[in-house]
Order: sequence, then structure tokens, then C-alpha cells
Amino acid sequence: MLTLQQIVKGLGEKQFSSAELTQEYLQQVQKDALNSFISVTADRATAQAQAADRARSGGSTDLLCGVPLAHKDIFCAKDVRTTCGSRMLETFVAPYDATVIHKLQNQHAVMLGKTNMDEFAMGSSNENSFFGPVRNPWDHERVPGGSSGGSAAAVAAGYCPAATGTDTGGSIRQPAAFCGITGIKPTYGRVSRYGMVAFASSLDQGGVLACDATDAALLLQGMVGFDANDSTSAHRSVEQDQWLEEIRHSHSLKPDTTLRIGLPNEYFDTSMDADTQAAVQEAVKQLEAAGYQVQPVSLPHTDMAIPAYYVIAGAEASTNLSRYDGVRFGHRCENPQSLEDLYARSRAEGFGEEVKRRILTGTYALSVGYYDAYYLQAQKIRRLISQDFSAAFTEVDVLLAPTTPGPAFKLNELSADPVAMYAQDKFTIPASLAGLPAMSVQCGFSQNLPVGMQLIAPAFCEDRLLRLAQHYQSVTDWHQRRPDRFSHSSLEVSA
Ligand code: GLN
Repeated sequence: MLTLQQIVKGLGEKQFSSAELTQEYLQQVQKDALNSFISVTADRATAQAQAADRARSGGSTDLLCGVPLAHKDIFCAKDVRTTCGSRMLETFVAPYDATVIHKLQNQHAVMLGKTNMDEFAMGSSNENSFFGPVRNPWDHERVPGGSSGGSAAAVAAGYCPAATGTDTGGSIRQPAAFCGITGIKPTYGRVSRYGMVAFASSLDQGGVLACDATDAALLLQGMVGFDANDSTSAHRSVEQDQWLEEIRHSHSLKPDTTLRIGLPNEYFDTSMDADTQAAVQEAVKQLEAAGYQVQPVSLPHTDMAIPAYYVIAGAEASTNLSRYDGVRFGHRCENPQSLEDLYARSRAEGFGEEVKRRILTGTYALSVGYYDAYYLQAQKIRRLISQDFSAAFTEVDVLLAPTTPGPAFKLNELSADPVAMYAQDKFTIPASLAGLPAMSVQCGFSQNLPVGMQLIAPAFCEDRLLRLAQHYQSVTDWHQRRPDRFSHSSLEVSA
């Protein structure tokens, strides 16, 4: 299996062409044993790869020129079906490209296809997809995590070297942890939301699932940047983001052992899986041995994050999803008897159970009389959680914690119990509420399943996460472990 870094090098040195590489990956994707793709765009990929090879011969120096990628089916790609995992959008063909898709296409990256996901990105197991669940490549009876489960499984299985994802409350980090790969959710506002189907707009953020931190940085640098089409996109100057030049120039980031690491007490609760806890503690020891200073910190409002998130995300979802009315987008019921009937039946048929639950609870939280009791309270908790992080970041530079309370659970194990499912996100949701960049990196195993450690940094300090993760991966080899039944690419690249 090649890393993105090896692919960039191999293409640059003309060891293989993008056309060859793309065919190789398309063959892997055709064998998808995990249901990780909703659509495979083979013809488009082939044409894009040929165009990339021509661009390279013509002197293109785009870092990602000819690199095959998969995209979560939440990103609109012009003339390509974009379902967001929903029956509502089963046949929806996007009329325009999301900014992320557009940027990557402009750099001549190749799109292999669109990956499976929980419907409208609501879920932690990928069991909410209208297109069926995705299997975890380490154990087919287990979930890959969600909602970017298709992207995570596809990267772990070697169907693509890296993939895009989105994270609203953990949807990049949790599947990355469950599939034993590296995932980064950048700062809110770092990657444009334009053309990314909206779930909870104050939380949604695009990011990357990849084999290691270097690969994550290589892809992320091609996705970030201000976009006038996204009203919450962040303005950043070149001076503020020197790491972008560094990764583009040297394809790597220098470690910074002056970073002080904080361990939030509230994320190491004794109720969680002992092997997960032990793996994370072992990683802490390795980082201490590598020269980092580590100290405990406290994030006292952590327990309130899940309830606040489900009020805020539900409220925003209920508003965002009101556009699916059977008139303007997506599924329309047969023979509507009246306008009311058209709305009611189109929505009843088009949305799955979890999406309906979110719309109902979200609408309730916003209704007259309950707005103050729920929505406003939740916003206040959100502020307290942000303040917890700000206080911690006066003492340390990065936080380190488990990504999830345990490894991948079994299919159907939690699907009948929404609250137990929501509790899976207790360590990922706080950083989302605070808009902070966060990352998951494999750091061991529990029950032969991968375990992820989470790194969280202050806003716009993605480079701290990437530098620390890259350094950790240079002294450990967890990130190189792959589920053995997945074959290796026949293309080789000299080191
Ligand atoms: N699992 C969380 C939810 O269901 C987070 C999903 C996400 O990050 N998109 O809302």
C-alpha cells in the first residue's frame, strides 16, 4: 500500500503515471468488500488521470497533480450523484462543485468516487446510511464509525490513499480511530463549507482521512483557504500559516518538542475501556521520552457537551433540512393530494429514522416557550466549554486524550439505543463545540481493534497537531499496521 507521500514522489519522479495508478485503485475499488463507496466515478477518474499526466508533462508542479482520492458523498461534484447517504437525495445530481472539490480538481487531483456515510452525516456507526452500513476492515462484524465511515474504511482497506470527510461532532476523528488511520478536523472556518451538504452549520467542517499525519497534511494543504462563498470562512495571511509553505516545500513538517502537552482529567474516566486507556497512556510515555513536557489539565464542563451538542446540532439541522420539501430538492412522493400531503409524504419517505429524530427534537428546542430553556441554555454551555479550552491553553499548547471511550463496536450493538450511540462522541464533541482543530492518530489496539488518541489545539494551530502526530509516528509504527486481508498495491516506489 502506498502512502500519499510516496505517490506524490512516485508521480513527480515519473516512476508511474496517474493513469496507471488510477487504474490500480479503480480495480481495488471495484472489489469493495466493505460497502465503502456509494458511487464509483471510473470514467471521470480515468479522464482526470490522463489530464493530470498531460498537465505534468506540460510542467505542472501542483503537489496533488494526478493523486487519486475519494470524497465523502456530502461534497457536491458537478454532474455527479451526491446523495449524502439519504434516500432524499438518492438521484440528486449536483449542478455545481463544492469548493473543496473545485480546488482539488484545479490541482489535477483525481476523484475515484463518493464514499458512504451516515444519512446527512448524522451518526457514529454508518448504520444510518440509506445505502446500507459500511463494514470495518479490521472486523467485518463491526462498524467503521461514522459519519465519514466510508472514507475511513476505504483508506484503511487501501481503496484510496486518502479521502475527504466532514466532522460536526466527531465524524472524522471517530471513524479514523475505529479504522486505525489518521484523521484531522481543522479549525472551524479553515475549509470552505460551500457545496458541502449542511447538517449543523456552526459546527460542520471538512477535513481529511489518511494513512498518517504527513499524508493528512499533504491533502489538507490543498483544501484550506478563504472562500467568499462561505460566510464563516476564515481569512488567514501567509505569515500566519507558515506550515503550509513548509509542507508544500519539504513534504514534511519539523517536530517541535517545546510543545507542552496537557492531559484533560475528564477524558481519562475509569468507566472507559481499559486497553484504550492503556494504549493512550503508553503513547504519553513515548512522547515524554521523545522530549515533550506533559501535565494534567482540567476541562470541567466536559460532561455537558453531549446534551448541549444535541440541542444545537438538532436545532440547526431542523432548519437546514427544511429545504427538502419534495419541491426544490430530491425525493418527491407519488400522486400528492395537496401541497401539505406533498411535503408530509415526501419528507416521511425521504428521511430515515435518525434524521427524523433530529428534526423533531431540533424543532422542539427552537419552538416558542422552549427556546430559552433549551437552545439558549445550550449556547451558554457551549461558551463555558470554549472557556475551559481557553483556560487550558494558557498552561499547555496541545491536549492529548483518547478519541473514543472504546474500540469499534458491533453492527446493531447500539443502533436501538440512540443515547448510548450519542455517548460514543463524548470525547470528540467538546472540541467541535469550541471550533478547535483536532486529530485522531492510531496508538495501539484493544481486542485486536485499533485505538485512537486525540490531539486538540487552539484555533488555527493545526500545525501543532500535525507536527506532534508526525513526530509520534516517526518513533512508533502503529500507523503502518493494516488489516491483513487487504492486498497491497502492485505499484512500488523506491524510498
Ligand atoms: N455522531 C455525531 C452525530 O451524530 C457527529 C456526527 C458528525 O460529526 N457529523 O451528530
